[in-house]
Amino acid sequence: MKKPRLLTKSRFKLALDCPTKLFYTRKREYENQADTDSFLEGLAQGGFQVEELARMEHPNGVAITGDDYNYQLVANRTKELLKQENVCIFEPAFLIDGLFIRVDILVKKGNEIQLIEVKAKSISSSNHNSFIKSTGSFGGWDSYLYDIAFQKYVMQLCYPEWKISASLKLVDKDATTSVDGLHTCFKIVSNSDLRTGIEKKDGLTKEDLGDTILCTINVNEEIDLILTQNPADETRSFPELVNYFREHYQSDSKIFTEIGSHCKACEFKEDNPTAQEKSGFHECWTSQLQLSVSKKLAMPANPCLSAHAA
Ligand code: SF4
Repeated sequence: MKKPRLLTKSRFKLALDCPTKLFYTRKREYENQADTDSFLEGLAQGGFQVEELARMEHPNGVAITGDDYNYQLVANRTKELLKQENVCIFEPAFLIDGLFIRVDILVKKGNEIQLIEVKAKSISSSNHNSFIKSTGSFGGWDSYLYDIAFQKYVMQLCYPEWKISASLKLVDKDATTSVDGLHTCFKIVSNSDLRTGIEKKDGLTKEDLGDTILCTINVNEEIDLILTQNPADETRSFPELVNYFREHYQSDSKIFTEIGSHCKACEFKEDNPTAQEKSGFHECWTSQLQLSVSKKLAMPANPCLSAHAA
C-alpha cells in the first residue's frame, strides 16, 4: 500500500531550514548525508536518556507503542487514551488533514493540557527569562520553538476546545546530581517496545534519582508569537506556511529557493551524481545558474528559518 504523504514534524522542520529540501527528502535516488540511524544518533546525543529521566517525573504516564510508521494506529491508540479525563501520555500521536506529530510528554487534566518537549540541551534556569530577542529571532532556539509551535497547532486542530500550555524540559546547568552513577540506572536495550530504547533499572523510582537535574521552561509567550506573527516568514501566517509546505509535499512539487550561502551545509549532495544517485544540491545550482545566465532568474528569497537561525 502506498504510504500517505504526511507533513510530519521532522519534514516541517526540514522545510523551515530550506523549503526545497521537502522535494528531495525520503527519495531513495537522492543522496541524503543526514540519513543516519536516528535511533543511534539519539542515543549518542543522550537525548533518549534525558527523555526517560523526564518520564520518571510522571510515574503514571502511559507510553504509546507500536510501529512508528503506522500513523493511523498510533493516532487511534492516543485517541482512545485521551477519552480519560486525566491522563499522562508519552509519545501521543496526532493525525489530521495530512499533518502528523508525536509529542514527548502530554499531561491532560480535563481540557487543560501540558505539552512538554524534552531536549538533551542545557540552560541556566536561574538566568533564563525569555527566548525572544529584539532582533525577532529566538537566540538559536528557533527550530526547537517552531517544532513546538507545529505540535501545538496540530493538537489544537484535533481538539479545538483544549487549553494548551507548552514547555521545554531541559538539563539545568544550575543543578547538581545528588546520586552517584545516575547514568547506570538507564540501560540501552535493542529489543525495547519503547522508541527511546532505554530500560530503567528494576524498581527504580523517582525518589531514587535524588534532586532533579532537569528544569521546565515555559515557552507560551514564544509559541504565541510564532503562531500569531510567524517571525520567520514575513509573507505568510503560520497556518499559511503549514499549508504551503503540506500542499507541496503532498503533490510532490518542488518549492524553489534561491541558492546561496545557506546551501553550504546542504545534506542532499552527492559529489558524483548519476541517474541512480542524484544530487539535489547540483540540481538546484545547475538549474538556477542556467536561468541566471539566460536572465530568467526570478526566485523568491528563502522565506524561512535559515535567515533567522543564530
Ligand atoms: S542546494 Fe540550497 S536551495 Fe537546494 S535544497 Fe540544498 S539548501 Fe536548499
